[in-house]
Amino acid sequence: MTPEKLFHELLGLGLNWEVSQSHFDRERGVVVLEIRETDRLWDSQRCPKDGSFVFCYDHTEELVWRHLNVFQHRCEITCKLPRGKCRQCGHIFRVRPPWEGLSTHFTKEFEAFALLLMREMPVSKVAETIEETDTRLWRILFRQVEAAYAEADFSSVICVGVDEMNIRKGQQYVSVFADLVKKRVLFATEGIDHTTWEKFVKALEEHNGHRHAITQASMDMSRAYQRGAAENCRNAQVVFDKFHLLSNASEAVDKVRRKELQVGEKGTGQWLRKTQWIWRKNPENLTEKQRARLATIKDKNLWTSKAYQMRLVLQDIYRSENGWTARRRLKVWCRWVRWVARFCKHGMFDSMIKLQETVVRHLKGILAHWKQGVTNAFMEGLNSVFSATKRRARGYRSSTHLIYMLYLIAGKLRLPQF
Ligand SMILES: [Zn+2]
Repeated sequence: MTPEKLFHELLGLGLNWEVSQSHFDRERGVVVLEIRETDRLWDSQRCPKDGSFVFCYDHTEELVWRHLNVFQHRCEITCKLPRGKCRQCGHIFRVRPPWEGLSTHFTKEFEAFALLLMREMPVSKVAETIEETDTRLWRILFRQVEAAYAEADFSSVICVGVDEMNIRKGQQYVSVFADLVKKRVLFATEGIDHTTWEKFVKALEEHNGHRHAITQASMDMSRAYQRGAAENCRNAQVVFDKFHLLSNASEAVDKVRRKELQVGEKGTGQWLRKTQWIWRKNPENLTEKQRARLATIKDKNLWTSKAYQMRLVLQDIYRSENGWTARRRLKVWCRWVRWVARFCKHGMFDSMIKLQETVVRHLKGILAHWKQGVTNAFMEGLNSVFSATKRRARGYRSSTHLIYMLYLIAGKLRLPQF
């Protein structure tokens, strides 16, 4: 078997194409495979406009596609692509070779390989590893994701969750909509106002979904999202997800701690110093050292410690068997917070009062948690998806880069497999 025949087999070129020459360019360290069409190609080509027979019109300049390495050496396919001409309408077109990926510089296999790597590590790192430019890799990602996204089917979507991903700390945000049943990202767009819902519904319906098929919309307590859901999906029951409420509670506890460090009674500083991580955890997750520390400060009558207890109780309310019990317990909880706050000076409990108000105001949405069967675990998981996305897109903090990377990682799109 000649090397040309061998490469022909390996590339799976079939009868329409042949490897006319193969050689190793020692200077550049590149394996070059020259390919040309066979006469049989024209039997299978038809005019893209009217389907008529075509004949070979001419050839393009020599084009180059990067393919997977041959051993450790870079491999390039070169070909003067034939152009066909229609016998009927005279339309002239470039024949699309079977190895070509979605961007003109790479083969399908190479693109699939690059996508696989970009899923696993930062794009800049992939570029270094396979000696390509970042720009070209991003182009592969954009085209592949775009093509796969166009094919995505949202017809089964009934439970949606929405969350915000920050692009630059506290400055620029993207709203991310997810399918909570199939655990995939459906859509992401810049901004966090109510119009993001309009855009989402549009995308949903472009992919065979229906706005009124949505029965559950999970979200944080932002008014904008509530308004967007109400305006666009009339059958959607709004659910304030557990994850966001409890993380608000953790924030509130931390604010009490910071305030108490500032204006608390003399001596509190020594008890509270370097304890922020303790209050964020649940007792069962504390390390041995943290547990010992907590034991020493627990009885010091600290406001932080009271707030922490409240956070734990709130969390425990989520273990209630049904909505009725939860409602009763939430009301008792709110009264408790208000009662304790009355004895508190310097507004140290302001954040807890606010939290309590939030619970009162959003009681219905919070209680919907017990009505709806779907778990919100995926909403919580989105946060780690967001950080993975940002790590992969390191150095490229435009919303477009992040959104495409998010689709690649979490869209469950049908992308070429390597
Ligand atoms: Zn034609």
